[in-house]
Amino acid sequence: MTSNFLNRMAIVAAGCVAMLVSGNGAAAETAAKNPLLEKWTGPYQGVPAFDRYKVEQFEPALEAAMAENLAEIDRIAADPAAPTFENTIAALERSGRTLARVHSIYGIYSSNLATPEFQAVEQKMEPKLAAFQDRIVQNEPLFQRVAAVYEAREKSGLTPEQQRLVWVYYNNFARSGAKLDGPAKAQLSEVNQELASLYTTFSQRILADENDPLTVLESEKDLAGLPASFVAAAAATAEERGNKGRWAIANTRSSVEPFLTFSDRRDLREKVWRTFVMRGDNGDKNDTKAVITRILKLRADKAKLLGYPTYAHRMIEDQMARTPEKATELMEAVWKPAVARVREEVADMQAIAAKEGAKITIEPWDYRYYAEKVRKARYDLDENQIKPYLQLEKLREGMFWVAGQLFGFEFVPVSGVPVSQPDIRVFEVKKAGRHVGLWYFDPYARAGKRSGAWMNEYRPQERFDGEVPTIVSNNSNFVKGKPGEPILVSWDDASTMFHEFGHALHGLSSNVTYPTLAGTNVARDYVEFPSQILERWLDTPEVLNKYAVHYQTGKPIPAELVEKIKRASKFNQGFATIEYLASAVVDMKLHLAGDATIDPDAFEKQTLAALGMPKEIVMRHRTPQFSHIFADDGYAAGYYSYLWADTLSADAWEAFTEAKGGPYDKDVAARLTQYVFSAGNTVDPAEAYRRFRGRDAGISALMRKRGFPEPAK
Ligand SMILES: [Zn+2]
Repeated sequence: MTSNFLNRMAIVAAGCVAMLVSGNGAAAETAAKNPLLEKWTGPYQGVPAFDRYKVEQFEPALEAAMAENLAEIDRIAADPAAPTFENTIAALERSGRTLARVHSIYGIYSSNLATPEFQAVEQKMEPKLAAFQDRIVQNEPLFQRVAAVYEAREKSGLTPEQQRLVWVYYNNFARSGAKLDGPAKAQLSEVNQELASLYTTFSQRILADENDPLTVLESEKDLAGLPASFVAAAAATAEERGNKGRWAIANTRSSVEPFLTFSDRRDLREKVWRTFVMRGDNGDKNDTKAVITRILKLRADKAKLLGYPTYAHRMIEDQMARTPEKATELMEAVWKPAVARVREEVADMQAIAAKEGAKITIEPWDYRYYAEKVRKARYDLDENQIKPYLQLEKLREGMFWVAGQLFGFEFVPVSGVPVSQPDIRVFEVKKAGRHVGLWYFDPYARAGKRSGAWMNEYRPQERFDGEVPTIVSNNSNFVKGKPGEPILVSWDDASTMFHEFGHALHGLSSNVTYPTLAGTNVARDYVEFPSQILERWLDTPEVLNKYAVHYQTGKPIPAELVEKIKRASKFNQGFATIEYLASAVVDMKLHLAGDATIDPDAFEKQTLAALGMPKEIVMRHRTPQFSHIFADDGYAAGYYSYLWADTLSADAWEAFTEAKGGPYDKDVAARLTQYVFSAGNTVDPAEAYRRFRGRDAGISALMRKRGFPEPAK
């Protein structure tokens, strides 16, 4: 997933060349005292001063930066000259620079360093930021200027990129209520502020439910089946949480999933599974259900105010899919073959359980465990055989090598750039000797860091007032081992590393003029395409032979093991597809339900029953913990995007496999760079894809990738 904390849908102006226009801006006055308000200084055209930021600086910095931005906006809106691209759209692109910087750091604290003190700041500032965004969108004279430039865009001598930028601004204003009358605007602004508070509440409750409930294992008997590396990490977690001498399973995906895969103790698997899937659903102070009901009601109100049948229609209108029906059509096409595959997978697992004499029926807490046994039996492939070859740092080197082959990038470690934690590293990215950007790498779990893995853009690339290089980061939650010991990761985690690195490369490849259109600031059902396709290079022999080396012997992964991995690549796709798709369908239906009052648990249950959800699988993100859609607006009615983008990534990958040079074919890589990775949002995504592939992507490659029967022609 990507994380663009500066929501460009609403904060319309952003960037990073500070334009403090005059001394009367509040920001200019307080800058001397508040490091957050200062321009980024130092090498690489400035880097964040992480060594100088403090939580108490955020509120005054955000207030000052918002005030400064509003003053800029007022000047643009009040310009006596007739509206032009330059005095309106380009001026908006130049404005808000201080706020963009402050907000970027604020976002990093929110996801990576969320102490209780910081969370209190967020609770206070989120509604204020929402109100601020509305003040810009609802500025009538400003919108009239934007609309005038939009109307004249085809006959004003603008470049295609400028025309696209004008459309983006106009569309964002219009979709956010710029055309409404006064009372409706006021109502919308109230809705937005309440939503902003609710998103913060939701995120903080889920974070609390991931931080707190540990499953503590008391004795060696509780460790049956667990790999040594996992036991060591569990011991470290226990020690960290004041339980020295025991073992603790944190309530996060990266701890829970390996436990469910390997633990022989069915009772403990069930316990760990229940704790995890009940996040936000325990009827206690961290319960999210009432928050969700209210969010959905407010979103329905918002859609109605803005003239859309439902919130789903509003959210999908300017995506690649365009309509909820189009997105649903794709999900339906995949659902049935995936369920059929689940039936086969369950039958295989049931057979193994019976053979072992376990008198059980496969339950959700058994799925990963028995799937692993089937994998061993059928493909002679054991996750623990692979893991010694997957060292975090070696994989990072492998990613760098792939980036060199495909994009000509070179990564050089740098020191002296401030970081917020001593274990975060910074790399300079170069192409043909020229500086491209910085890549921050924050791989380790810590309290206050949200779970999962993500990419973040600290600063977008741009060049309209001079070249500004991008700064991006990759973040994950690997548990640190003992000092000096390499961190061994699972195949899934390795895949995720490549995925997030794909987002980073999307940002780093950006070659556009205006920051609003840069890098990963594209439609959300398109943004996962570059990241998903990058996953495909992990199992190329070039990467495996050189970078998947045994952590003790240094020997490359044996060819027959690679062969086994390849043969098993379509294994368990029923499970993976259904756990994802169930979440995507529930998301869509929640946002198509109009203003019905929704009880999240009941709605989930009914929707899954109507869908024919296999009882052996639970949604990847149950409604009460579905951060993609309730922690912010990002993926609301948009979780389908991963499948949508995968049709593109599967089809695009075949462009490589069809080519002479295979995965490293230089011509295909050049086209991928030119039309996809470097283009940002300068081109309509459907058009960009067509330019890369020469045609639209069908569903066939996706079905082949997952090993499902292809649709009849
Ligand atoms: Zn992603």
